[in-house]
Amino acid sequence: MLITDSQRTALQTLIELTANGRALRYELDNPKRAEELQELISRHKELGEERTAAVAVVESHQQAINEASELIDAQRTKIEKKTVELNDGTGLTSRDMVNLQEEIAGHETRVSELEESQLEEMEGLEGAEAELSAVDDRIAEVTASGKEVQTAVKERKAELHGLIADNETAAAGPRSEVPQQLLTAFDANVRQGGPGAALLNGPNCQACGQEIGGAAWHGMLGADVNETYECEECEAVLLRRS
Ligand SMILES: [Zn+2]
Repeated sequence: MLITDSQRTALQTLIELTANGRALRYELDNPKRAEELQELISRHKELGEERTAAVAVVESHQQAINEASELIDAQRTKIEKKTVELNDGTGLTSRDMVNLQEEIAGHETRVSELEESQLEEMEGLEGAEAELSAVDDRIAEVTASGKEVQTAVKERKAELHGLIADNETAAAGPRSEVPQQLLTAFDANVRQGGPGAALLNGPNCQACGQEIGGAAWHGMLGADVNETYECEECEAVLLRRS
């Protein structure tokens, strides 16, 4: 089918707009930062697990400190009771008194040991709390990055919707110029995932790669540059490059 120069221009504009529209829709379905967002979501989940572990460590130190306090209190109660007994001295032999003194000394030694281990637990608690706080800082960072990427993805999607609408609006003019027969073939090829129409640089369909026979190609070279053809393979509209 022979077309005019302005129809040729319209067809070329449609080829560009179709490719552009397809790229925009592809990006809409496959947001550029989606992978990054997915990584941040996984990282957030991992950190949540790290936090649970860090909380358990903090709690184990706190529990050990509390247990040591209870044991120290029990030892001190015994020391008090035995000190009262010793000071009272009623009915005690000197042997009993020596025994009581030794028992009190034993309890005091035990208190010192417990206090020492409690101090170690307190140092451990301090380290564990610092670790927990560091995990919380990382969670806050990942959450902030996640929100930032999520917002960017959302904004880009809104932008893409606008660009796709603009692209469709821009196609309306050229579409009204291209003869209906070519437009039908063009749209059918686009629906199959093709470019709609292609400009030929040589004896191959630029849409699907199908080879054009030597005689057919020779015929095209001899014909008007605005003569259109249809690819036998993919049915794209073909036009020789001017
Ligand atoms: Zn083809």
